[in-house]
Amino acid sequence: MIASGDLIPLGELEETGIRRDRPWRAQGTAFAEGLAIGNAVLHEPRVKVERLIAEDVEEERRRIEKAVEELRASVDALIDAHDPAHPGESREVLESYRMFAQDAGWVNRLREAVNTGLTAEAAVERVQSETRARMMRQTDPYLRERLHDLDDLGNRLLRHLAGLADTAALLSMPENAVLIARNMGPAELLDYDRTRLKAVLLEEGSPTSHVSIVARALGIPLVGRIEGLVDQADTGNWAIVDGETGEVHLRPTGDIQNAYRAKLALRAQRQAEFAALRDKPAVTRDGAMVQLMMNAGLSTDLPMLDETGAEGIGLFRTELPFMVSHRLPTLAEQTQLYADVLAAAGPRPVVFRTLDLGGDKVLPYAKPDPEENPALGWRAIRMALDRPVLLRYQVRAMLAGARGRQLRIMFPMVAHVAEFRAARALVEREVRRLERHGHQGPESFAIGTMLEVPSLAFALPALLKEADFLSVGTNDLMQFFFAADRGNPRIGGRYDALAPAMLRLIASCVAAAREAGKPLSVCGEMAARPLEAMALVGLGVETLSMSPQAVGPVKMMVRALDRSKVTDLINGLIDSPEASLRPRLKEFADTANIPV
Ligand code: PEP
Ligand code: MG
Repeated sequence: MIASGDLIPLGELEETGIRRDRPWRAQGTAFAEGLAIGNAVLHEPRVKVERLIAEDVEEERRRIEKAVEELRASVDALIDAHDPAHPGESREVLESYRMFAQDAGWVNRLREAVNTGLTAEAAVERVQSETRARMMRQTDPYLRERLHDLDDLGNRLLRHLAGLADTAALLSMPENAVLIARNMGPAELLDYDRTRLKAVLLEEGSPTSHVSIVARALGIPLVGRIEGLVDQADTGNWAIVDGETGEVHLRPTGDIQNAYRAKLALRAQRQAEFAALRDKPAVTRDGAMVQLMMNAGLSTDLPMLDETGAEGIGLFRTELPFMVSHRLPTLAEQTQLYADVLAAAGPRPVVFRTLDLGGDKVLPYAKPDPEENPALGWRAIRMALDRPVLLRYQVRAMLAGARGRQLRIMFPMVAHVAEFRAARALVEREVRRLERHGHQGPESFAIGTMLEVPSLAFALPALLKEADFLSVGTNDLMQFFFAADRGNPRIGGRYDALAPAMLRLIASCVAAAREAGKPLSVCGEMAARPLEAMALVGLGVETLSMSPQAVGPVKMMVRALDRSKVTDLINGLIDSPEASLRPRLKEFADTANIPV
């Protein structure tokens, strides 16, 4: 028998204000660019409860106990696998899951509801509704916020009861899936069929979270920090994702759909224009060749080499495979990856950057070592030189993976010549070891360095006697040059890469490299934005390496440009007291019809 009385009826959800039948618009933050219209898929599917009355109460008791056990174990596993790089909110949510899952009161209420004759599923829904109603009456905002976690947990419990997979990755997916979750790890995203995934929407997320990195690598738009998203979404809803503005629509009206379809068509047309340039050289109108390379880091990036027509990989971020894995990749796995990358590149050059860990790049399986200023702390080459085993293994894998080929290696975050010298010596020791063992190694080497710490820019004549090439990492170079955290949106707009001081710094590096006869490229975000790339070409940079999506737009800009005119313009403005030359460069580009 189902007891009535003060029990809250099933379906209470509707009365607590959540309607999943009306158009819903939200503003999030774009973490991976692109535009998509598709069908929502809840990463953690909601289970529809159909059977309410128990046929065998004893059996339902047994089921609820087992499901609660499984739920507790899975929450513990989630906490163990939690990405320590992103403590904040996700950690709080997981702890709150644990608090509810271990709460004796909650479990007792579930048992009581089953004892009244409900199925285990109906008992979960009923207790959810009751607790929900009680929490809605709370004035404490913290407790009200935790409502959300309780709903998630109830859903998890229902999935355990239904014997369903934890995520939708194993279920059949529509062809144009827009994946919706509170948050997810990079490996979870990679579980989905890439060909069917059109976009990802998250309630949480940040630009540097690993899932954002993977989405960018896959070329899938991702919008995060969308409040109330999971409550509002249902699998099958139409969803519009604008990875430029961060705007998101669920169940959009016909007008909105039409507007976005027009935007999508325009974008497709632009993409077709870029694709038509694929095999054309990146040469300016006055005949200066610019080498356009792409940045990569995962094997999923490799098909983009052919798709974009990039002339090689100017920056392979080797830490990414380490970051998206659940454990340290073995020597054999690393060797295979580097061999695959070189095979995919064929005759095109590939520059491998050794592990750039620390700062915001933390391994999920490494012991967290909190620092006051992680960006300025024990990271990248500093860590590699202090604990050389990891670097030695990595170099060993690169030497084996590049058998018979040219191997180009560079080091991250080098601050002075001695660090470069020590890192280079480590590579050379591994080469001699290989020779001693009579193994075939690479056919030739080039060993260079990133230039992303300002001090190194003032040591170039000495450095370039020893380094074979330079790659300017403007993301870090800018953050250290202006003393402005690259991930902090509050100061994001305050300093500009097109500031005269920054351009002067880059110009001096270009001059030093030219003087030493060593190649210099730029591989930071600056190279990926047409207006900034225009300035770099004007400063004499001949190689730019960028995210694959940027190759087309930057090539289009290069082919419309008179390099000497930009050079003259920048030379005339470099002593300007303005905070940025952006307006002047934009005006120049617009007048000369250069697409930026
Ligand atoms: C940079 O700092 O500009 C760079 C390319 O390296 P990352 O973005 O990986 O720190
Ligand atoms: Mg960097």
